[in-house]
Amino acid sequence: MLDDLRKEVCWANRRLPELDLVAWTSGNVCGRDPREPSLVVVKPSGVLFGDLRPEDMLVVDLDGRIVEGTLKPSVDTATALYVLREMPEIRSVIHTHSRYATAFAALGQAIQVYLTEHGDAFGIPIPCGRYAKIGGIEVGQEVVRVLREIKLQCPAVLMQNHGVFAVGANVRGALKAAAVVEDIARTVHLAMTVGKPIPIPPEEAARLYTVYHTKYGQKPGGGFE
Ligand SMILES: [Zn+2]
Repeated sequence: MLDDLRKEVCWANRRLPELDLVAWTSGNVCGRDPREPSLVVVKPSGVLFGDLRPEDMLVVDLDGRIVEGTLKPSVDTATALYVLREMPEIRSVIHTHSRYATAFAALGQAIQVYLTEHGDAFGIPIPCGRYAKIGGIEVGQEVVRVLREIKLQCPAVLMQNHGVFAVGANVRGALKAAAVVEDIARTVHLAMTVGKPIPIPPEEAARLYTVYHTKYGQKPGGGFE
């Protein structure tokens, strides 16, 4: 069932440690089937990324019932499913504790636009959501609240004291958001260790965003991949 999506979700999960976004078994990627939007492929809980095979992935419905699979789903499944239920345009949710971005989350701080890379990718600060209890829908509710507030322009939210939730219109787009957020956070952190970084004015950040999202790459399309 959903063989292509299983392969894609497995591939993206295995990329998390390769991109240095996760430690041990924490972090996960899920993906929604484009043809049957009520079906979601999720990672099994507590399996090492290097051991993951497409057949280990689980298919669940939007209420978390297992449709196919024998392993236990990721503990973050309830959060991801809440986001997918509330926001039909989202097809993938990625959660990591990637260290530089999570350092800002520990401070409860959004990441302001200091870099053209950031202006290009998101055009606005990377927001930080309020502290939310983990394990249920509370984290999902806060992620959705923040994403709606910024009209999904930045496809990633830091959650205070916790980590990063990145989303996308497909698995690859969510993975890109998770990787770019961490790259920005790392450079901003380095800048802050030697001084006070200079913010890019909002109108210039907006201009960078527009240029990047209309001219960059091989095909037209928005930043919300
Ligand atoms: Zn977490």
